[in-house]
Order: sequence, then C-alpha cells, then structure tokens
Amino acid sequence: MGNRIHLGISTCLLGENVRFDGGHKLDRFLTDTLGQYVEYVPVCPEVECGFGVPRESFRLVGDPENPRLVTTRTNIDHTERMVQWARKRVQELGKEDLCGYIFKSGSPSSGMERVKVYDRNGVPAKVGVGVFARIFMEHFPLLPVEEEGRLQDPKLRENFIERVFALKRWRETIAKKQSLGGLVDFHTKNKLLILSYSPATHRAMGKLVAQGKQIPLGTLYERYQTLLLQALQLRTTAKKNANVLEHMLGYFKEQLSPDEKQEMLEVINRYRKSLFPLIVPLTLMNHYARKYDQPYLKEQSYLNPHPVELQLRNHV
Ligand code: SF4
Repeated sequence: MGNRIHLGISTCLLGENVRFDGGHKLDRFLTDTLGQYVEYVPVCPEVECGFGVPRESFRLVGDPENPRLVTTRTNIDHTERMVQWARKRVQELGKEDLCGYIFKSGSPSSGMERVKVYDRNGVPAKVGVGVFARIFMEHFPLLPVEEEGRLQDPKLRENFIERVFALKRWRETIAKKQSLGGLVDFHTKNKLLILSYSPATHRAMGKLVAQGKQIPLGTLYERYQTLLLQALQLRTTAKKNANVLEHMLGYFKEQLSPDEKQEMLEVINRYRKSLFPLIVPLTLMNHYARKYDQPYLKEQSYLNPHPVELQLRNHV
C-alpha cells in the first residue's frame, strides 16, 4: 500500500497533554500497534478553539438533540464559539483524505455517542454527542468512525480497521486515472469482502458495474463509492462470513479431495458456532487458494484485508 492511511484522532489519545487538567488519555494500541500503519491527524477541539491548558472543564446541558456546551463551574455557554470553529475545521479536514476518525469517548466536545447531557436539575443521562463529533459526523456521514473505548471490543476493532483499509484501497483506485477497467478491477478484488458485509449491496454493486458502459464515468464512480461506503457501514456476522467461505469452497470443486472438503466444511461450521475464530477457516482457505493456484481467490482482499500483525479475526 502506498501512502500511509490518514486517520483523524482526538489528540489526547496520542498522549499529548491537552486535557482540561493538563493530562492525556494515551492509548497504546492506537499509538504503538495501529500507529505503525497510519498517519494520525490529531484534533483537540477545546485547545484548537482557543481554550488553554489547563482550563475549566465543560459539560453538555439541555436538549440532548441540541445540547449547549457550558463550563461546569462558571456555567458559561461556549456552544457558538465551538460550533463556528468546528464548521471551519471540518472543511480543512476535508483536504486531509481521511479514511476514518477515532474519537475520545465521553467528551462533551469529542465523544461520538453516550456523552452525558445534564438536564435542568443537574441530572445526567448518557444520550449526547460531543459538539465537534456531531458536526464532524454530519459533514462526513459515511466515513468510518469509532471511539477508543469501543475499540477495546475485538469485533468492533476488526470492523473499524477493515473498513478503514477498504476505504484506503478505494482512495488509491480513485487517485488513478478513472476508467471502467480500473473500477472493474477494484470490484473484482473486493467482491468477497463486500459480500461479507452486505449480500444485497454486493448485488446492487454488481448490477451497477455491469451497466458501467452506459453510465458517465464520474457518475459511475460516485454511485459505486456511495454503495461501497454504505455496505461497509454494516456489520459482518459469523453467518455472513460462513456463507462467503462456503461460496469460496465452490471454487475448489474439482481440486479438493472429499476428505479435504469435509474438513473445510467442519472448520466453517465450527466457526459459525463460535468455536473457532475466523482466522482458522481463512488460513485454510488461503492455503488452498495458493496450493491450487486460484487466481481469483488469491487476489481477494477478503483473504488479506489488513496486516496480520494487527491480530484481527483472532477472536471467537
Ligand atoms: S477529548 Fe477532545 S477536547 Fe478533550 S482533550 Fe481530548 S481531544 Fe481535546
């Protein structure tokens, strides 16, 4: 993969002392592991908006759909200032070619969901979205976004990183000269990955590509991108993955012995029942794809969607 993946991130997660109390929220997985493959674009809304370090902390108050950002002790409303800044900042971020964003959970500025919003009696409910995070997600509705807390969950982590890498591959495709051939090539290599997210969108994308000659190239790329990002917003499941694996097995009809076929089916079944992690059937499938030299399967991003060092697909 050429240039590194650009990922937006809440600055404090990188260990920068930008929090209201002068501290940080360093996340070692993000810096040491994922950090090897991405270039972070750090954003600290509160510092960049001009509030210093240390500063009085903020909280969200009022209507959960449209809360105010106020200082906790002096009760000063800084919503307008933050909104004005955030609207400009997302415009700038539009030039950064971001493939995703990692937010700091619980923050009244940066939290992506379940941020505390206080009612008029000072009672909190975890129903809000940080002021900057909301404006960011409205501006980039289809971009993969996550929070560092949710990324502790192996399934959510895998899903997020897979989407980010898929988007990076797509960005590399659109960076080249647009052509129907280029689009078909991307679609061919990513077909099974898309199928593992959404069989329905996979069908719609296949139809779109098949009509490619009749659609102006720019429109075709745009429609394809929308479908791709919509598909990647969904979740893969054991059931969907097992179906893709069975579909792949069909490519070896002639080559696998009855024993090998049986073994593969058993492994897929155990994966389906959460007895094996996905990496087990995939390793076997990769082995057969190479052994029997299956060019279509060998090229599938589904078999190698991201660096193995990230140790994804290892959970049950
Ligand atoms: S949560 Fe957001 S606003 Fe708060 S310190 Fe981190 S980056 Fe800055």
